[in-house]
Amino acid sequence: MKKSINHQYMRSTNKRLILDFIRKKEPITKKELADQLGISVTSVATFITELMEEGLISSSGNADSSGGRKSELYRLNPDSLYVFGIDIQIDRLIITLINLSGDIVKAAEIKLDQNNEWFVASLITKSLNQICETVNLPFSKIAGIGIGVPGIVNHHTGIIEFAPNLGWKNVNLTSLLPVEVPIIVENEAKAAAVGELNFGIAKAKTNLIYVSIGSGIGTGLILNGSLYYGHNFLAGEFGHMTIAPQGLPCRCGKEGCWEVYASNDAAMKLYQKKSGIKLQSFDELLEAFYRKNPDAIEVIGRIVHFLGLGIANLINGLNPEVVVIGGKIAEAESLINYRLLKEIKDHCFEYSYRGIELLFSRLKNQATALGAANLMIDGLLANLK
Ligand SMILES: [Zn+2]
Repeated sequence: MKKSINHQYMRSTNKRLILDFIRKKEPITKKELADQLGISVTSVATFITELMEEGLISSSGNADSSGGRKSELYRLNPDSLYVFGIDIQIDRLIITLINLSGDIVKAAEIKLDQNNEWFVASLITKSLNQICETVNLPFSKIAGIGIGVPGIVNHHTGIIEFAPNLGWKNVNLTSLLPVEVPIIVENEAKAAAVGELNFGIAKAKTNLIYVSIGSGIGTGLILNGSLYYGHNFLAGEFGHMTIAPQGLPCRCGKEGCWEVYASNDAAMKLYQKKSGIKLQSFDELLEAFYRKNPDAIEVIGRIVHFLGLGIANLINGLNPEVVVIGGKIAEAESLINYRLLKEIKDHCFEYSYRGIELLFSRLKNQATALGAANLMIDGLLANLK
């Protein structure tokens, strides 16, 4: 009995490995798959037949060969499944529809007038149906939904334990969505790290820190190639590391947290203190910065100082190869890049700083939605029989 369970386990593991390899290296031949995965050509052939019957892959011509029989190439069948990725922000929903190959079929941004969970759930339902109609895709072709939220998510249950900016506590969003497909819920910065890894500027990196800078600061950690969750799924809450003992109060109840000095909200508060002007959004502050407003320049300089200080601490502790800056401030890359790098260097242990790459997200507002969709596809493929 035990033997047959192990056999079934090995079998589905090998099938998943093959599909995953095709996903990353397509188009590819059976022989290449067998050689690179260390699985026999006969087994590869069996799984290829199954995957083709299931519609997940298709053959796509022949590889160039130097004499002998030509080898058939295999690639994903992009239209075999579609997945939605959703990023729930405080004032908007970012929704992306992708196919199995990760091509973006449709991206939408929808304003949120209220953010109680019932309202958000019904708006999501309505929006997904509308998008399906727009691209002429029956909802039955949707294989899953990945959702990113600004808060603490129990990775096992998908329950949103605490999302202070949305005012949510113990919200089971999945149960509020009247759909029959699997749903994955993940913290927004963790999802964005996955987005950068698969769609963005940090493709195929194995150790990266994604720093999500918004009204607070969160980070997503990819360590040794995998998303790192920690004991209670709280890994990455560096926004609450103390950088100023007895410093400014934080909404977490403590004082001197990193996000109180380096987030967009921190920047806007500092600007108001300096200029007496209360801005409505961080976008306005960035515009003032671009116009060379002296107060805005001073404020952004201060924020960059604290960002660099905090990031240096993360680099010292985690030894990543890449740090990706995400959030609206990433759009100011050309103006803050050098200064931020200098701040990091000034506060970093010399050996940890060597070889570090500082990158700015180019995915605009899409990193979390794309990452959440990618996590959903990973989840679907992990359940292959
Ligand atoms: Zn805090």
